[in-house]
Amino acid sequence: MTEKKKLASLPFFAAILLAIGFVYRFGAQWLRSVLIMLSHASWARKLITHFSLARRVAQRFVAGEQIEAALVAARVLNEKGMLVTLDYLGENVTTEQDAADARDHIIQLLQEIKNWGVDANVSVKLSQLGLRISPDLARENVRLILLKAKELGNKIRIDMEESEVTATTLQIYRTLRDDIGFAHRVGIVVQSYLYRTESDVHELINAGAWIRLCKGAYAESPDVAFAKKSDTDASYVKLMKLMISDGARAKGVYAGMATHDEKMIQATIDEVKAHAVPQSDFEFQMLYGIRRDLQEQLVADGYRVRIYVPYGTAWYPYMVRRLAEHPANLWFFASNLIRR
Ligand SMILES: Cc1cc2nc3c(=O)[nH]c(=O)nc-3n(C[C@H](O)[C@H](O)[C@H](O)COP(=O)(O)OP(=O)(O)OC[C@H]3O[C@@H](n4cnc5c(N)ncnc54)[C@H](O)[C@@H]3O)c2cc1C
Repeated sequence: MTEKKKLASLPFFAAILLAIGFVYRFGAQWLRSVLIMLSHASWARKLITHFSLARRVAQRFVAGEQIEAALVAARVLNEKGMLVTLDYLGENVTTEQDAADARDHIIQLLQEIKNWGVDANVSVKLSQLGLRISPDLARENVRLILLKAKELGNKIRIDMEESEVTATTLQIYRTLRDDIGFAHRVGIVVQSYLYRTESDVHELINAGAWIRLCKGAYAESPDVAFAKKSDTDASYVKLMKLMISDGARAKGVYAGMATHDEKMIQATIDEVKAHAVPQSDFEFQMLYGIRRDLQEQLVADGYRVRIYVPYGTAWYPYMVRRLAEHPANLWFFASNLIRR
């Protein structure tokens, strides 16, 4: 690294040290809130994406910027015995054209999945498909994507975003599932940190839904979400038990346990063993590049494992949420800086 580049990196290094000091002084929860706030700030996005170092850190969590990179990653994961869900990065678009471009890209992605013969479905965010402009626009874009998925025998899962759009997201999902008739093609995500989720899960179980359970990745107010991690974890275990219960499976529920938390994974395995739940009735899900050791161990133990593989140029908010979840990733950021 040249002296000039070293000097340019100094503010970054100082910011990381400051952040680490911040964790020790105020606790990780504060840093998490600050990082999640930064994930929405366009000034921070412009600043950070400008640096090649940030792009390098993003590579740990993102398969690449082009569709081919995602398909190569999917193929490698399939060869290791893992299923995949591909995510074309992007969220909170503000123009109909951007929403249409994302929709067309995802339709092309479905075609490429078929052409490449990889075992992958697709995750989408409604805010990438126009939710912030109008719920009708987002619903219509997903409908067109689902038509393509149906033609190709594939499936789409709608990711869950901030709590302010939970009700609308569930409403759009239900319309696509029940009124427009994509019941076997569309899945949904629930977040264990929200108080409302238990009642949502009961409704989803009744409908025999295809559900992913995660803890939740956004900064939420204590008015709507558990503030303490232990409460979110307890809720996760409770919801997991509901979702893989005999009653839920009899209704046709297929659950994805999305977590890297060994305690949540062990609780799931204990429940599965206690109730003789077939391994084909549920799956574990993890994010690309996170806890690869655990991913491989679960496959070796005979469990279904699906990896969420994001790709695309809009990696900034996704990367910052991953840093927020696990502040130790800031060390990774810092060590890359030192190694340059
Ligand atoms: C397949 C998948 C799909 C998801 N979809 C959504 C969604 O639609 N909506 C939503 O709000 N959230 C989603 N999430 C994110 C999720 O809500 C959590 O924010 C994230 O998974 C971290 O929680 P955890 O369950 O892994 O447990 P945590 O308690 O946060 O972490 C447990 C352990 O996992 C490891 N770990 C966790 N995160 C990281 C990380 N970023 N880097 C390195 N190690 C880490 C660490 O060892 C940590 O100690 C998804 C997660 C997965 C795995």
